[in-house]
Amino acid sequence: MSGGPAQAPHGLCDDCRHQQLVRNTRGSVFSLCLRSRTDPAYPRYPRVPVLACPGHEPRGRGEGEGDEPLSSC
Ligand code: SF4
Repeated sequence: MSGGPAQAPHGLCDDCRHQQLVRNTRGSVFSLCLRSRTDPAYPRYPRVPVLACPGHEPRGRGEGEGDEPLSSC
């Protein structure tokens, strides 16, 4: 078998409401931490997979926004 999807390649970020996936012009996808915009303690692009994070908050908990769309330049 081949081509199986990788599960949570970015670790905790893939289940976090503060994550935004950003795709560059080459098609690579990066995990942007939106907390970095308001809290300098969080790196803009954390080293993945993130295995532990004090700011992790699971998404889909009635916040009304759901998944963030992919951004493209
Ligand atoms: S708060 Fe933590 S888990 Fe959530 S996106 Fe940022 S680095 Fe990832």
